Amino acid sequence: MESAISGLKRHKLINLEKLATLRPEMLAPLIRPAGFYNLKAKRLCSVIDWLAARNGITGLKRIPTRRLRKQLLACPGIGPETADSILLYALERPVFVIDAYTRRILSRHGFITGNEDYDSVQQLFQENLPRSVPLYNEFHALLVRLAKTHCRTKPICHGCPLA
Ligand code: SF4
Repeated sequence: MESAISGLKRHKLINLEKLATLRPEMLAPLIRPAGFYNLKAKRLCSVIDWLAARNGITGLKRIPTRRLRKQLLACPGIGPETADSILLYALERPVFVIDAYTRRILSRHGFITGNEDYDSVQQLFQENLPRSVPLYNEFHALLVRLAKTHCRTKPICHGCPLA
């Protein structure tokens, strides 16, 4: 993903107006390192059109969180994790992002069974933490870090801060 973004930066395309001029077949080779690039290019173009029709990030800032989340989820290829990442990181809305790392850590510590749906796991955080963008941001980043350093597929509990 990072090299796909670097490719877009190299071509000076990290800009909504410029991206909106690209068709999927023009975008696909530029994001090739991301894998499934043809499908991703199609989906990205439709998200770019969706975003351009709303006047970009400035326009999104005027839409209430719940309504915006629904709209994001209606875009092809955008699931709850992506929608919430956009809401939290790009728009600074207090929405907790749930990913596979979070589920892994929570289930290993008995907070969830692992079969819960996305919204139930999200509620667990949102009902037990203050609604705070910096807190959600850092909490999620720390869970990701923990999953990469200790709570890997095969956990390294020795030395883990949660041990
Ligand atoms: S690695 Fe850490 S977070 Fe994962 S199960 Fe062991 S103690 Fe818990």
